[in-house]
Amino acid sequence: MAKFDTLCVRAGYNPKSGDANVTPIVQSTTFTYDTAQEMADLFDLKRDGFFYTRLSNPTNRVLESKMAALEDGVGAIACASGMSATLLAVLNVCNSGDNIISSNQIYGGTFNLFKTTLVKYGIETRFVDPNASYEEINKLVDENTKIIFAETVSNPTIVVLDFDKWSKVAKDNNILFFVDNTLSTPALIKVKDYGADVALYSSSKYLDGHAVALGGIIVDLGTFNFKNNKRYPEFNVPDESYHGLVYADLNKTAFVTKCLAQMIRDLGAIMSPMNAFLTNLGMETLGLRMERTVSNAAKVAKFLSENKNVEWIHHPSLKTDPYYEIANKYMPKGVTGMMSFGVKGGREKAVKFMENLKMIKMVTHVADSRTCVLHPASTTHRQLSDLDLKKAGIPDNLIRLSVGIDDIEDIISDLSQALENI
Ligand SMILES: *Cc1c(COP(=O)(O)O)cnc(C)c1O
Repeated sequence: MAKFDTLCVRAGYNPKSGDANVTPIVQSTTFTYDTAQEMADLFDLKRDGFFYTRLSNPTNRVLESKMAALEDGVGAIACASGMSATLLAVLNVCNSGDNIISSNQIYGGTFNLFKTTLVKYGIETRFVDPNASYEEINKLVDENTKIIFAETVSNPTIVVLDFDKWSKVAKDNNILFFVDNTLSTPALIKVKDYGADVALYSSSKYLDGHAVALGGIIVDLGTFNFKNNKRYPEFNVPDESYHGLVYADLNKTAFVTKCLAQMIRDLGAIMSPMNAFLTNLGMETLGLRMERTVSNAAKVAKFLSENKNVEWIHHPSLKTDPYYEIANKYMPKGVTGMMSFGVKGGREKAVKFMENLKMIKMVTHVADSRTCVLHPASTTHRQLSDLDLKKAGIPDNLIRLSVGIDDIEDIISDLSQALENI
């Protein structure tokens, strides 16, 4: 198989003689056929092809095949957003009465989904510190546990996941292991190698990379055996809403097929072909961008760790970071461009620092080509009291910095002058 950077450029699209050399945007909801039989076969999944864009579209298919190739997975689904990707993947296996065991260091939107919205539908989440022991995590499992959920690296706390420990809980109990790998991407870690069964992405971040298209991707890594697994009865009985198909009989593609046949069919929430085109275009440079991102991030982390106006800093490239060893074990090329640090002098100085920045902009977004910052205490987490902030591991002087691919000298010179003048 071709190497990573080649797959980024080419996977999923193989133009024939006279075809467009670049993936076209197929901006059409429907596809036409000459005979009723051809269409019937499509509906019955007897042949591959396109009939309605909610279920499949040629532009989306290119992006999905590319992601599956990059992850060594068996299939992928491009969704409207990272949130919808997580929601659809969860609902594909959880019914009312089921539960999820999740790291408590996860993206705020996912935390709210698990903590508030899913509860209304009878799905419970048992949150646990990602650094809890195997025994502590394992004892949360019961016969209704359907998913073990964690993120490769958390934001803004920058906790790097101990994959071996988390995947062992999943494997020992024969439970699906979902990993949200948004902030590291397949360029830095192939989560399949460390026990993940399903990889989830907000493609709005590094995959698109230019902050132009909202999207999410579910990748089925084809590793989980549903056959006769009593924990997942729905995979082992005929789906009367889909011609009596028994998903477990499909072996490796059981998860992605059920997700498409039931979840996408009934809940929609697919990526638009235009966004699939933009995301696919952005992904051509994923390998290149991540290489520069982590090399810039390591230099910025070193600079900040030596600055007199910086109280503390979390980035796993630093030898002094508690996650340095574990980061090297799983992601020797680098972990992410995300980091957080504390400005000396508390909340007021943190805000002053941010307002002093000239090139680096304040935005809610992270993980694209432009270096950007956010002060969670006065923005995303402003509803929380100082005490609640502390409990969430977010000091009031914390700055979240997403290092991009700007020239390193320009990034450091802007940070330097802004810190100098607090
Ligand atoms: C942004 C993000 C999401 C949500 O994705 P959207 O595309 O904004 O819906 C999920 N997980 C992580 C880690 C994220 O950073």
